[in-house]
Amino acid sequence: MESGFRFPFLISHFLPPVSRFPFPLSLLTSRLPLPTMKGRYKLNPINLTAHEAHEKMVSGEISSTELTKACLQRISMVEKKVSAYITIFPDLALKMAKDADERLKSGENVKPLTGIPIALKDLLCMKGKPTTCGSKILENFVPPYNATVVDMLLDAGAIILGKTNMDEFAMGSSTENSAFFPTHNPWDPDRVPGGSSGGSAAAVAAGEAIIALGSDTGGSIRQPAAFCGVTGMKPTYGAVSRYGLIAFASSLDQIGPIARDVKDIALCLDAIVAHDPMDSTSISFKKPPYLESLVDVDIKGMKIGYPVDFFGEGLDPGIRKSLDEARRVLEGLGAEFVDVELKSGDYALAAYYIIAPSEASSNLARYDGARYGYRNPTNIDVMDMYKKTRGEGLGREVIRRIMTGTYALSSGYYDAYYLKAQKVRTLIRRDYDRSFEKCDLLFTPATPAPAFRIGEKVDDPLEMYLSDIYTVSVNLAGLPGLVVPCGFTKGLPVGLQLIGKSFDELTLLKVGNAFQEVTDYHKRSPVLD
Ligand code: GLN
Repeated sequence: MESGFRFPFLISHFLPPVSRFPFPLSLLTSRLPLPTMKGRYKLNPINLTAHEAHEKMVSGEISSTELTKACLQRISMVEKKVSAYITIFPDLALKMAKDADERLKSGENVKPLTGIPIALKDLLCMKGKPTTCGSKILENFVPPYNATVVDMLLDAGAIILGKTNMDEFAMGSSTENSAFFPTHNPWDPDRVPGGSSGGSAAAVAAGEAIIALGSDTGGSIRQPAAFCGVTGMKPTYGAVSRYGLIAFASSLDQIGPIARDVKDIALCLDAIVAHDPMDSTSISFKKPPYLESLVDVDIKGMKIGYPVDFFGEGLDPGIRKSLDEARRVLEGLGAEFVDVELKSGDYALAAYYIIAPSEASSNLARYDGARYGYRNPTNIDVMDMYKKTRGEGLGREVIRRIMTGTYALSSGYYDAYYLKAQKVRTLIRRDYDRSFEKCDLLFTPATPAPAFRIGEKVDDPLEMYLSDIYTVSVNLAGLPGLVVPCGFTKGLPVGLQLIGKSFDELTLLKVGNAFQEVTDYHKRSPVLD
């Protein structure tokens, strides 16, 4: 894939270092009152899925309060090593659990998510709760409303445990760009959990939540899911409402779940996929009952496309080996593999790094010290106030993207960069359409290599961008993508990516679930305590 990788601008290399205020520790500790849960709970949430917990709650074997306490206890045990959360709500979570238990007792309005502890990536607005987007500029921002997905989870009776760490404004692949602290990979705390939804993936992998929501603009659900050995899905663009999601690149952003298995992904999609009049890009379509449709599925005769170009040079041998094995497993279940060509994928990364920053440069113009969050306190004229506020409140990578996007959209460069990138985007979409004439879904690696070390790529943006080489084209084409754990290399998890036709999440879930029925990679958990 690298051969076709063209990065057409150098502006980012000339950026001066940006001075940052050190994050006030007082705030961090007040944000993070680690729950002090006394005693040992019999329940270890690290092995429990939402669908299993639901059955246990309905039968009265466990209560939501017990499960929520178990998650909070797990947080208090491992959070110092993992740092998955920016904010935790122990009191609120326990209150919600009490309400859920009443619902369960009366049997009224009980849904599959009732009483299930969930974490939210810290770019989903929750009324009255700090929503930082991983940025100093929104450090003190408290939204006055809920994102539509948050309302949907609350309506389903889910328990909100807290808000998870992320790369600032979802820009990054390692969660090291968080303005607050990096998150650690539960499989190896010296390594990154991936990003930008690294906090959500790490929380699920470490047993600090049963399910977590993330967002995916170029791979931010799928890449961290792969790095942390959990299951993650980016739904089709328009399937899940983006209302209340702090925007990075509006034509690419999509919210989706990270969980321990495909059934939990299905269960969560049942709750959050719906048309929303508050999001003009939300699409009304007849959705199938996802979880219910996973019973007795036979994938015999299913045609799985194998994009040969995704398996070329640059793919880690350990990852290749796991994927070869995964292919044999699926063939053993009766699926047929067909080779497909996806040549324009070579240009996906370059097109993405024009389009995403262009949209970001426009979306982030609103953080000017006048309307939201942080403002430089010195009494200066308004231009200086804007400059200082943005210079101090935004991190290096965010400023790099704003400058790149502004450059690509400026007159004289627009045709050469932005317009051309949009044309490439159309070609990528057509390439996918063509390959789906031959198959029902595609089978690819999720990442070129397993989780890298903290600090390894942080000073080399291009290296960092390359870790999304297999995921960004899916966002450019607006398609659904599912990542399931499919092996280990050198003790680190490996992810398999399945890419589907628009609004055909179900086929991905069926194949992913069939795979998990005969493998146990998704059941393994890291040792942290
Ligand atoms: N890592 C990619 C980026 O930095 C994708 C991020 C995302 O999906 N939010 O833009």
